[in-house]
Amino acid sequence: MTTVDVLSVASEIYPLVKTGGLADVVGALPKALAAEGVRMRTLVPGYPEVMLALHGAAEVHAFADLPGGPARLLATHVAGLDLLVLDAPPLYARSGNPYTGPDGKDWPDNALRFGALAAAGAAIARGTVAAFRPEVVHGHDWQAGLVSAYMRYSGDGPRAASILTVHNLAFQGQFPRDLLGALQLPAASLSVDGIEYYGSIGFLKGGLALADRITTVSPTYAWEIRTPEGGMGLDGVLRQRADVLSGIINGIDIDVWDPANDPHLRQPFDAKRPALRAANKAALQERLGLAVDPGAFLFGVVSRLTWQKGLDLLPGVLPALDAMGAQLALLGAGDPALEKRFADAASRRPGRMAAVIGYDEALAHQIQAGIDALLMPSRFEPCGLTQLCALRYGAVPVVARVGGLVDTVVDANEMALAAGAGTGVQFAPVTAEQLLFAVQRIGTLARDRVQWRRIQHRAMTTDVGWARPARRYAALYRELVPHRRR
Ligand code: ADP
Repeated sequence: MTTVDVLSVASEIYPLVKTGGLADVVGALPKALAAEGVRMRTLVPGYPEVMLALHGAAEVHAFADLPGGPARLLATHVAGLDLLVLDAPPLYARSGNPYTGPDGKDWPDNALRFGALAAAGAAIARGTVAAFRPEVVHGHDWQAGLVSAYMRYSGDGPRAASILTVHNLAFQGQFPRDLLGALQLPAASLSVDGIEYYGSIGFLKGGLALADRITTVSPTYAWEIRTPEGGMGLDGVLRQRADVLSGIINGIDIDVWDPANDPHLRQPFDAKRPALRAANKAALQERLGLAVDPGAFLFGVVSRLTWQKGLDLLPGVLPALDAMGAQLALLGAGDPALEKRFADAASRRPGRMAAVIGYDEALAHQIQAGIDALLMPSRFEPCGLTQLCALRYGAVPVVARVGGLVDTVVDANEMALAAGAGTGVQFAPVTAEQLLFAVQRIGTLARDRVQWRRIQHRAMTTDVGWARPARRYAALYRELVPHRRR
């Protein structure tokens, strides 16, 4: 197996800087890919969190004139990751969120901040940095969208192949066209088959138009985004590029999410000893002030509270949960109106519903280990990680039939059960009525204890790690590396 050198370009990376699932993926891929003979270095902006984590970083290049000014490129190895850090204090030396200021609004110079990242990525892809000449450059989301535009429109010399991965099409990076000069891109780039997007500059659009390959994080999402309903304005370009678009499901870190070895749990357990979950259910009920009752069916939610996640449908099914004698443990943060609705609903259901508003990693683990079923009524879901955690922890997922949820949860319908399959329940369309039916189906499935144990066992033994997706990415890289090299 020949080694392939890949440059990953991303705006966040776990464990250094994270706002969402993107960071998890970017942080997990290099380790998983090492087993496949892929040497991956990741280019990230030098935010304060990143700069603080650097020890003994070496300057490997100085850019005299990137968009936004000069910048240094530092190489380092930290937290098991090979990083290239773009050190440009005027662009990145700001505390807080990578994308938004203290007022919650996007940083006004985001075009330059991520234009510089992409320009640096393209320069490395052209072989500018002697210490590292990648064969493939793999960008993530709109922040890396312009990599292939810079490769196409500026500089020449040998170039790497380019891949762009879409983690969420909702974030597109659209900026006024008069920034073209500041971004150091020629007028010719502002065309339909370039970076032009509804009269503006589209970072994601440009990447989708110009990358050699496009991937997204599930096969079903790869279909959905080609339709006007799911394409969020980009379905046209995605249809045009359908021949180079594919979906590769994400994994989760099965060491961090390991029920047999999870410091957050009262009682470790695994697929061979699912009955041990009972102690975690009791611990969760205790912690959240729910009635400690092993017989009460316990639903759970761990989620951002946004329109995407469909949780505004949940209040509509609470009376049905009450009628079933079920309990609900909800952990989430986001839309203030939804936060309030859930807090109010919980206060009207003492001992039967708990709503914890906030972000709490430990509680997320405890919920997955203690609940009987996880509710995920997403309106769209590129891949979804929460249902993968639920599968591994034996919390049977109840999911909307969209995106990555389709590809990761096997609906336990009658024929599936007869064939010895089924790991959860899917429902469609995403309405309160269908969510209610799904909840009722769960009630029916759970009454058959033998059947339920089988479903739970299949869930817990589903392969949700990174090994399989890493093989898919490695195969894609090898496909792109020029034949003469193989
Ligand atoms: P998204 O990235 O769209 O928010 P995913 O399902 O892909 O959704 O990933 C969400 C991840 O964030 C999961 O690992 C989930 O456990 C975690 N998470 C979401 N909300 C919370 C929260 N309030 N507290 C702790 N963890 C959370």
